[in-house]
Amino acid sequence: MKYEAVIGLETHVQLKTRTKMWCGCVNEFGAEPNSNVCPVCLGFPGVLPVANAEALRLTALAGFLLNCEGAGFAKGGRKNYFYPDNPKNYQITQLDFPSNICGRVDFELNGDLSQVCITRAHLEEDVGKSFHFGDCSGLDFNRAGVPLLEIVSEPDINSADMAYEYLNALKRILEYGGVSDCDMEKGQVRCDVNVSVRPVGEIELGAKIEIKNMNSFSGVRRALQHEIPRQIDVIQNGGTLVQETRRWNDDDGITDSMRTKEDAHDYRYIPDPDLMPHTPTEEWLAHVKECMVELPLARKQRLMAEYQLPECDADVLVADSTLADYFEIAAKGVENPKTVANWIINNLQAKLTESETSLADVKFTHAGFSELVGFVESGKINSKIAQEVFGEMFSTGKTPAEIVKDKGLSQVSDMGELERLCKETIEAHPGPSEDYRKGKEAALNFLKGQVMKASRGKANPQMVGDLLKKILTG
Ligand code: ADP
Ligand code: MG
Ligand code: ZN
Repeated sequence: MKYEAVIGLETHVQLKTRTKMWCGCVNEFGAEPNSNVCPVCLGFPGVLPVANAEALRLTALAGFLLNCEGAGFAKGGRKNYFYPDNPKNYQITQLDFPSNICGRVDFELNGDLSQVCITRAHLEEDVGKSFHFGDCSGLDFNRAGVPLLEIVSEPDINSADMAYEYLNALKRILEYGGVSDCDMEKGQVRCDVNVSVRPVGEIELGAKIEIKNMNSFSGVRRALQHEIPRQIDVIQNGGTLVQETRRWNDDDGITDSMRTKEDAHDYRYIPDPDLMPHTPTEEWLAHVKECMVELPLARKQRLMAEYQLPECDADVLVADSTLADYFEIAAKGVENPKTVANWIINNLQAKLTESETSLADVKFTHAGFSELVGFVESGKINSKIAQEVFGEMFSTGKTPAEIVKDKGLSQVSDMGELERLCKETIEAHPGPSEDYRKGKEAALNFLKGQVMKASRGKANPQMVGDLLKKILTG
């Protein structure tokens, strides 16, 4: 019998706010442990939470980006459990009244369009972090109370690769919208996987197994690549699967059982009497919607159509919205946008990586960049000189026109000057000149190289080739 996997993901994404969800403590990574804490986020008796307006705005914006229906009424409740990193002994989450429901993420999977429906995208608060040092443990509450968006997918995913691509698409969409930086290294995206298997054609879902403890998207993919065959194996060997939570062990590449349904938590959800409901007005929602951006997939399709870019270039550009922004500004009014894309992908990106800087640090202007590409296109400088000019632009911020003028780098297309160079070269190398006359084509390349060298790379190579031929055979 053939089996298929059924997968649903619960993804937590840290919202890009300056302060925490219910207090004014700063939301920052890497601060001294317990330096961003106050009576509210530490759960002291008698304190009252005040909602972070920016977190509410980003939550609503995420709803638009994920094609959700705004729920119209949202409210936090308390999820109660005792754990050392949870200072209030409850976590505020929108269980019964989530901000966003019924959404959809569109993405590409092996070149085809694919989609995953979103059950809900709701706001909740993060907890602290525990550290273990040999014989004692420490707790850092800087992260307690930081706003998170939990995005729960429908069980629409059927393979490890599909889960991986969905996560990448989700990350990119939220980055594009400025909802979250989705920095994995700072723990800003965390994902729990729910997976079951069933015979192909069966409608009923199999026992849901939740897997925790993956710390990257490729970890999620590896965990599923291991877990799906494991479950099928159990069934094919006559066993039964029970609902349970398993932990992914990345070093060994296996999942281990953590707890079964019997010892599952009972969270005793209760409404939070201290919280006001959030009932967005049409006006407020319209205001949030103004910050909507074009989604990455739509942008990719538009870049291909509008600038005739090949798919691989469009993919590279949309992977980083700042890169795509840069391209669109620099390509304005340029005859061949593909050349601009080439320069961004091959040269600019390489320089940024090499110097460990980002686009925001670039010293030259978009106009300078377009000018450089224009110089190459028009033959004012050849592409080798252009590399030199670009290096100079990158380190000094000067315009290509200034650099070309200062260094006398303009391509030599002056017939008289070129003719002189060619004649001198032929005289200096009688052997190769004779070889060419006798029909040895390769000798021409040698002579051409000598002329280019004599011109310090500035001669127009096309014209040099033509001239040499004319002189030698004429
Ligand atoms: P809980 O409330 O216990 O977290 P839910 O049933 O609300 O569980 O679902 C959590 C996630 O698990 C969702 O992403 C959902 O799509 C997925 N899911 C639910 N049932 C199954 C199943 N049988 N197999 C795989 N995924 C499932
Ligand atoms: Mg769950
Ligand atoms: Zn606080």
